[in-house]
Amino acid sequence: MSDTQFYGIGVAPRAQIRPCGVLRKLFTRCFLTLRMMTFTMMMVVAVVPIAIFYNWVERTSFENELRQVDENHLIIAKNLSSTLSRYATDTLAVFRFIVSGSHGYSDMTGFPELLGNYNICHVIILDRNDRVTWQILGHNKEANTMPEPEVLDHLRELTAAANGEPVVSGIMQHNDGAYFFIAQDLGDGRMALAPWSSKYVIELQKSISFGELGHSMMVDHLGRVVAHPNAEWQRINKDASKLSVVQSMLAGETGVAQFYSPPMKADMIAGFTYVPETGWGVMVPQPIREIEARADAVQRTALMVALVVFGLAALVGLWFSRLLVAPILSLVDTTRSIADGNYQARVAGLPRYTPCEIQKLAQSFNDMGADVECKANQLTEALFEEKRLSHERAELLAEAQRASLAKSQFVSTISHELRTPLTSLKGSLELMEKGVFGAISDKAKRMSQIGIKNALRLQALVDDLLDLEKLDSGNMVFRNTPVDMSDLVSEAVEANEGYAKVQGVHFEYEPTGQAAVVCGDHNRLMQVMANLMSNAVKFSERGSPVRIALDVDDRRARVSVRDFGIGIAEKDHAKVFERFVQIDAADTRRYGGTGLGLSITRMIVEHHRGEIGFSSVPGEGSEFWFELPLKKMA
Ligand code: ADP
Repeated sequence: MSDTQFYGIGVAPRAQIRPCGVLRKLFTRCFLTLRMMTFTMMMVVAVVPIAIFYNWVERTSFENELRQVDENHLIIAKNLSSTLSRYATDTLAVFRFIVSGSHGYSDMTGFPELLGNYNICHVIILDRNDRVTWQILGHNKEANTMPEPEVLDHLRELTAAANGEPVVSGIMQHNDGAYFFIAQDLGDGRMALAPWSSKYVIELQKSISFGELGHSMMVDHLGRVVAHPNAEWQRINKDASKLSVVQSMLAGETGVAQFYSPPMKADMIAGFTYVPETGWGVMVPQPIREIEARADAVQRTALMVALVVFGLAALVGLWFSRLLVAPILSLVDTTRSIADGNYQARVAGLPRYTPCEIQKLAQSFNDMGADVECKANQLTEALFEEKRLSHERAELLAEAQRASLAKSQFVSTISHELRTPLTSLKGSLELMEKGVFGAISDKAKRMSQIGIKNALRLQALVDDLLDLEKLDSGNMVFRNTPVDMSDLVSEAVEANEGYAKVQGVHFEYEPTGQAAVVCGDHNRLMQVMANLMSNAVKFSERGSPVRIALDVDDRRARVSVRDFGIGIAEKDHAKVFERFVQIDAADTRRYGGTGLGLSITRMIVEHHRGEIGFSSVPGEGSEFWFELPLKKMA
């Protein structure tokens, strides 16, 4: 039952609603389209590299930033170190120069500027009792304040261990500021001394600033802060020696380290190194969160790029899928149009950038459309012609049927009309011939006999015509019953024996006693036998036998009638069963007959689903036979 029929009679049972089928249909309609498939394919091709790119950026951005920071910070730290190194070397050289010539300089013009340039406040020489024996002030004229006694003690300790070389102290407070002290043991308890301002180091520190909180920091050889963006740490020269990174610097290491910075309250990463001349540490730290922020920014940019590329890919995908699908849809529409009978329909107006294969397909399709149109036109014309002819044929047929009906009616009317006067004519002649109306002359008797004979022939012709007409029009009535052909043949022999005897011919028939039951009309089959036997008798010489035989096998009964008469020439075989045919025109006069007997016989046999045939040799005789199917036993 179709869906339409089913839903027409009421509510569909649950089993008939197949959600899977509906979903599959929906999926097929929405996704299994060329457009969607092309679009999806393009998106997959675009999305996979974008996804890989984004994933790579996400995974590596932080490490990349970190690696860059490592390099940059270390370079800055090393640059700072080398700058400080040069500064310290130069300062110590100036100090040495000043101290070495302290007794011999008579003209010290320009020395204050020199000292001032190197942030040296002054240079003094103390005797063993810490009394100033020589001094020179820097150009900034800072107060010539003597260091605290403890400081002097500390410096004497330092210089004692330096073998007469200048040494630089750690940072310390002096004159309300942060200073290093350069000191040198001059022998005999004398000591040269110069307070060295940390100003330059602080300026240098300030010059390095990057990111939000990226900075530089310098510590002295004890780990105390010399320069730092945190003013408090710098002011009090905070002891930072506990920081692991400071310890590394003081140990003379160079590298990159991560650590927690209390003043910044953040995890930091720093490039660090040291200044070999002074033992100072130099580092360039930056909060790790700034690096993370930069990595996040890179990731955001990558995401934006990915989204833009994705959007572009989607647009290109839509455009491309439309480019492919639009001409195909146009083809489909045209196909549907042609299928609906519009044979003039053609694919036209393809989009500008239609692929050339599809253009060729459209061209071929249009050619095919033209062919189809031509063929359809031819077909329409042929159909029209056929219709006209069939109309004519129908008219002719009707005409023929009308004519045939008229002929049948004519034959049957004439036959009936002829029969009655013929019967009366024949009866009157017979009575006259028998002398019922009085004695008649021999000549009149002969004439009466000829008249009777012709009346009989005419009667036979009328009978044959009537039979033929009935067979032709299908009006012949067959009363089919089981007929034993063995009995029928015996009966036929007996019935025609009289005629044979008159003709001086005798029948030879040996009944086998074997039953051969067929389904048929007894009288009509007797008519068949009579026709074949009368022909055989008619065309035999007097004294000749006519052999009749019945053969039976498991399927059929075969009756044959063999005579030894005139036979039929090969060339005439085809005509034998034709109507009104007598092989020799003289036969009519000599043998009589109508030329209809064999036609009627064949129609009767064929009506019984049998076959009829003959073989004949002129001068030797003929054998006519017919076969009928045996009746199937229940
Ligand atoms: P008819 O009534 O003239 O015999 P049939 O149709 O029976 O008509 O036969 C047609 C013709 O076939 C006959 O006129 C005859 O020439 C030929 N014919 C039929 N049977 C025989 C036969 N046994 N021997 C020779 N000729 C035959």
